[in-house]
This record gives sequence, C-alpha cells and structure tokens, in this order.
Amino acid sequence: MEIENMVANSALIKAREGGGGKGRSWKWKEMLRFPHISQCTDLAMNIERDYYSVCVRQPIGKRLFQLFCRSRPDLQNYMSLQNALDAFETKADEDRKESGINIIQRFLMSQSSQCIPILLKHGESCIQSMEADPCVDVFHQCSEDLHKHLSGEPFIQYQDSMFFDRFLQWKMLERQPISKKQFRQYSLLGKGGFGEVWACQVRATGMMYACKKLEKTHVKKRRGESMALNEKEILEGLDSRFVVNLAYAYETKHFLCMVLTMMSGGDLRFHIYNIGEPGLERNRVCFYAAEVCCGILHLHQKSIVYRDLKPENILLDDNGHIRISDLGLAVRLSEGRLVRGRVGTLGYMAPEVISHDHYGMSADWWGLGCLIYEMTAGQPPLRARGEHPNTSEMERRIKKQQEEYNNKFSHDVKDLCSLLLTKDPKQRLGCHGSKGKDVQFHPFFKKINFRMLEAGLVNPPFKPDPRQVYCSDVQDIEEFSSVKGVTLDQMDNSFYSKFNTGSVPITWQNEMIETGCFRELNVFGPSGSRTPDLDW
Ligand code: ADP
Ligand code: MG
Ligand code: MG
Repeated sequence: MEIENMVANSALIKAREGGGGKGRSWKWKEMLRFPHISQCTDLAMNIERDYYSVCVRQPIGKRLFQLFCRSRPDLQNYMSLQNALDAFETKADEDRKESGINIIQRFLMSQSSQCIPILLKHGESCIQSMEADPCVDVFHQCSEDLHKHLSGEPFIQYQDSMFFDRFLQWKMLERQPISKKQFRQYSLLGKGGFGEVWACQVRATGMMYACKKLEKTHVKKRRGESMALNEKEILEGLDSRFVVNLAYAYETKHFLCMVLTMMSGGDLRFHIYNIGEPGLERNRVCFYAAEVCCGILHLHQKSIVYRDLKPENILLDDNGHIRISDLGLAVRLSEGRLVRGRVGTLGYMAPEVISHDHYGMSADWWGLGCLIYEMTAGQPPLRARGEHPNTSEMERRIKKQQEEYNNKFSHDVKDLCSLLLTKDPKQRLGCHGSKGKDVQFHPFFKKINFRMLEAGLVNPPFKPDPRQVYCSDVQDIEEFSSVKGVTLDQMDNSFYSKFNTGSVPITWQNEMIETGCFRELNVFGPSGSRTPDLDW
C-alpha cells in the first residue's frame, strides 16, 4: 500500500472511531441552523401532506408527530401503544409472547386503565392469534386502526401546531443544496467503471459514508447517463437494511456523486479469496446467502430485477452484516412485463439472459445460486479459479454444461445450488408463484430465523476487524460495455439536474437522529428546554 494511502487510511480509521458528536465540524450548529418559520411558507404550501409519509415513514416526522401527541392528554395511550408495538417488533421470538400478551392486557382490555376504546374489539382475536403463533403479524389490524384514528383529527390539529412548524424547519434544512463543501474526503475505497469510491464524512454531523464519484466525461463518452440516473433513482426509492442506502446525490464541476451507506468490511470477493483458503465456512455462507436473499426479495417486491449478483457487489459493514450494492444494472419492470437484454457479468449471467430471451426475477435466483456456489467452493461455477474461458465457451457452459460439486458441498447446499442453477427458469427454485419465499424455506436455511434477520436481530457469524481496511482491487471496467440500455438523447445539463437532487429524506433524517444532532437541536421555546425524553 502506498504511503499516502496509509496516511489516509489511518485518518479514516480515526474518523470511524469518532461518534458521540466527535467528527462534527466546530461550526456544526451554524450549518444546521433552523430557518425562521416565516421562511417556510412556500414549503408549507407545497409539501406533501400524506399522513403515512409525514407521520410514519419519515423518521423525524414520526418523532415530531409523537411529540405533538404527547402534548395531548387524550392521545397518551395511543403513543404508549405505538411505542409498545415498535418495541414488540424488535423482540426475539422467545420473548414475543410475553411482550404481546402484556400489550393486549394494557391496551386492549376494558379493565385496564390504559385501554383504548376504539381498539377493544381486537382484543379477542389478538389473544387467539398470539396463542396460535406469536411470530406472525399479530397486531396488524390493531395498528391499522391506530393509524386510522391518528390520521384523522389529530393529524389535522398537528398541522396547526408548533411541532409541524418544526417539521417544516427540518425539511428546509434537509432541502438545502448539497455540494462537496459539506463533506470531508478520506481514503479511496474502490474503483468502478466510471470513477472511484471514497470514504467521506458529513461535516455537520460527523456521519461516515462512501461517496461514489462518476466522472462526467467518462459517463458521457461511454453513454452512461441513463445507467447513472437509473442507479440513483432506484436507490432513492429503496429502504432496506440489505441494500445500500443513498443519502445524497449531488454534482461538482467534474463529478456526479452518490453518497452511500459506508460499508467498510470489504466485499465478499475479498473475503472469499484473500483471507486464508478460498471459500467461506458454512455458517457464513448461510448467513450471507440469507441476507442477500432478503435484499433480493425487497427489490423484487418493488418489481426491480437486480441482474448483477456476484461476490464483489456484496459488501460487509463494520458489524459483519452485508448489503447489496452497485445497482447500475438493476431495472424496474412495469406491470408484470419482462425485460430483455444481455446484462450483467458474463460468468454470472443466467442462461435466459445470455439467450436474449425475455426474463424477470429468475435472473437473480440464478445469481444467488452462483454466489452460494462460489462462497462454498472458493471458485465460481462452471470455471476454475483464474480460468477465463472466451465468451462463446462460457456461453456454451452456462447453457449446456452441468456444474460440478466437490466434497466441500454438504447435501443441503448442493441441493440448493442445483435448484437455483436450474437452466430452465420455469423449473428454477424461486421462480414459481411464491415470489421467492420458497428459497427461504429450503432446508439449507433451516437455522435462519428470517423474521429476526429482517429486524436486524441476528448477530453476524464474523465481525471484520475495525482496525483493518479491507481493500480489494476491483477491475470490472469491462462490465458495462455489454449493456444495451436505452439512451435518452437529452442535453447534459438537464441530465445533471435530474441527478442532482440533494438529500434523500429518510436517510438524511436517520443521519440526524443517529448522530444525535436531532436530539441536540430539536429544542423548543426561548428557554431552550430540551424535548421531553421519550422512549428514543
Ligand atoms: P461500479 O458500478 O462502477 O462497478 P461500484 O458501485 O461497484 O462501482 O463501486 C466500485 C467499488 O467501490 C466496489 O467494488 C467497492 O470496492 C467500493 N464500494 C462501492 N460502494 C461502496 C460502499 N458503499 N462502501 C464501501 N465501498 C464501496
Ligand atoms: Mg461494481
Ligand atoms: Mg455498477
């Protein structure tokens, strides 16, 4: 490693150790100063006033609405129930029953002092379903009715309260134009087809991210506009713990930048090949495969085919959880339509992709098969490690040749791989009616509790060393030359302005909360009194 890079890396390691407000600029409060409410009138007129978006989905919106409700005696129990339901979702299976019964007794029984009359009718059915299986969505209907109530009169009153004014002030901050001045840049994390990915830190909050910088001239020369915009637009519509989040999209004179969840544990290719014997032990294979599976299902639920599953696109975070990254090739299918296009990385393309057939989600289940195979064997299916068959030979093997399983494969993993690597997409596991759920039901995953995995409650089997920088030299520069995307013929500037949309609301609001900035700044009144300490 070069000296410069080592210096940058040690700065990066220091920055990552920050926390508790350490990485913030000394001017951070100035950077996040609320505009006067009189400056929010335009926003107040134009802002989307959808209850779910404003009071449930947006993290700061949710907190401010809770503060409003807490200020009203008649809504106390609603808020306590909402907090109890949120806590219930993070309970391990074995604790769910007790916690659930407790909720029912507190809020859904007429003899309780905290009972909520309009929800009493759910008491009986909640008890029954809790007795039958505490791990299903027992309180679904109850929660719907709770929100139905809050979205009525309380939501109307909220919009006339100082709490909503404060929401508007936060939204103004969120919508500030973004430029490179708002970030510190640390070391290089990786290289891609259009540019480089750098570790960066938001000056105002101290939050660490990865900044994927696309060089404008490269993008233009290689007609990557639609691909770059596609990646940005798909990312901003997602919210999964198994897919990298987009926090900001902005431009500089020379670059288009996407600021993404920092994944400092390296990619799976590095872990498969660069640490000891090639391949990963079974419980890691199983854990990563399960998390990838959840990420893929999240994309599929939004009608997005990912199309680029391979070890180097699966990144580890500090704790050892993975996220799918690099969504440049992902595509949203419109209304049950299929796509066509030889897209992806040749060694990992499904037979139907290679053959120019129409395809849908099936391509990703093939990709998952390749990934599980490679993690297990320490080499990809259908070719030896280091072997680079030419294109036509690789195509022949994918379409015709049966993959081989050595003694590293237990019965379960071999069975799963061969079901996912079924040549005919109609016969392939995951491609039937169940929307991929049958993959999760395969015996290979019998030790995985997918509900707890989805809630982030499962500890990873391996934690990256926080003092190591897991570098891998990614050389997939050829990758996108095979893409046949539709290129819209527009002026560059109009493309740049579509790209340059600044902060992504949910990620930005989470940043404010996670870094403590929300708590420190969200004070009310001239006395500067803190917001009352709620459960958060
Ligand atoms: P491209 O689309 O050009 O292939 P990628 O999104 O794959 O670009 O990024 C290139 C490389 O940068 C990756 O292989 C990885 O090593 C690194 N990288 C990308 N995103 C992140 C991230 N969120 N955190 C850390 N490193 C990343
Ligand atoms: Mg890549
Ligand atoms: Mg890409």
